[in-house]
Amino acid sequence: MPLFSSTQTKLPPFPCSTLYPLSRSLSSVPTLKLRRLTNLPQPLRVRAIDAAQPYDYETHIKTHFHQSNSLKIAIFGFGNFGQFLAKAFVNQGHSVLAYSRSDYSNTAQKLGVSFYTDPHDLCEQHPEVVVLCTSILSTESVIKSIPFQRLRRNTLFVDVLSVKEFPRDLLLKHLPTEFDILCSHPMFGPQSGKHTWVGLPFVYDKVRIGDSGFRINRCKKFLDIFAREGCRMVEMSCEEHDRHAAGSQFVTHTMGRVLEKYGLVSSPINTKGYETLLDLVDNTAGDSFDLYYGLFMYNKNAIKQLERLDMAFEDLKKELFGHLHEACRKELFGHAKARTEISDDKEPARPRKLLSLGAQNGVLVNTITETEKSD
Ligand code: NAP
Repeated sequence: MPLFSSTQTKLPPFPCSTLYPLSRSLSSVPTLKLRRLTNLPQPLRVRAIDAAQPYDYETHIKTHFHQSNSLKIAIFGFGNFGQFLAKAFVNQGHSVLAYSRSDYSNTAQKLGVSFYTDPHDLCEQHPEVVVLCTSILSTESVIKSIPFQRLRRNTLFVDVLSVKEFPRDLLLKHLPTEFDILCSHPMFGPQSGKHTWVGLPFVYDKVRIGDSGFRINRCKKFLDIFAREGCRMVEMSCEEHDRHAAGSQFVTHTMGRVLEKYGLVSSPINTKGYETLLDLVDNTAGDSFDLYYGLFMYNKNAIKQLERLDMAFEDLKKELFGHLHEACRKELFGHAKARTEISDDKEPARPRKLLSLGAQNGVLVNTITETEKSD
């Protein structure tokens, strides 16, 4: 349908110099009436709304750009985190398919995701990217159950597990050699990334990406999803990730769980520090115990950190009770007696801290320096 009437498209150029003084002098007369009275050409009138036309190059280019940037992504494991990721994928215009042990058809429909109750049917859709989003504990059995033969020969596999060496080794062991492997860890979740992903770390390791332009570009397109959301993109080996994560993420989750068991409650006089603790409990309580247990079981560095935490807590208690003991003795025996007794002690109560590898060697050190000791 033409956008303008044919008579109007042939109008001569508008005589601005003559119209301007005339319209000014007759400013009280409505413009259309004035044009009719003065036999001036009618203004253009829109006869149809702007619809995409076959010759609409702008739309063509937009569609082409969208298609060339969108990926067909299959998510295995459509639980808490799988759904969280799917929302962002769909919002960025990717086509998302999902499979999970439980039936999430209704949730998937609401999110604009095609849900499959049979992994064979999903794989026959030939997704370009398969995202492994199951619990750490079930990873091996899930990988073994995927019908690889139904996928394209060069599919990109991405895992988003919170530990990295473990899935990397499993993927290298079980995946056909033609498949690409990207190990990643979005270091945030449905709680901490609820409002925005801006500035949140996304760690990745390109474990095996073929060198053809197509494969490199596909991997880049996937990483771009997180970059576009504003994530801080950190390329790091799986080993390095696990070393850092045990000291930060595992300790955070442990403290959150300890405080949850302790039973923190909000009070009318919350300090800022206390609010932070309440937030920490909120952030970690939403995650499954499987996830936490996975952080412990499948990161070889976690046990050392747990031992260090335990030693630090015990040491702090000793320090407090040491002071209490001293105060009690003073009370019971008087200052002079107490001082003699204390000077007999091999190790006076002094602030101490753990060596960075303290848990490994079971070493605790006094914070006093060598000079102080010699004094
Ligand atoms: P999760 O408890 O670690 O995993 C739940 C998912 O695993 C669900 O999709 C569940 O499927 C599936 N699953 C559990 N046991 C299974 C089994 N035996 N066989 C098959 N599937 C099984 O909780 P999550 O928070 O959703 O985490 C998913 C993955 O994302 C984990 O590897 C986690 O480390 C990683 N991750 C999580 C976060 C986070 O903040 N939550 C952040 C970064 C990375 P059904 O629901 O169908 O039973």
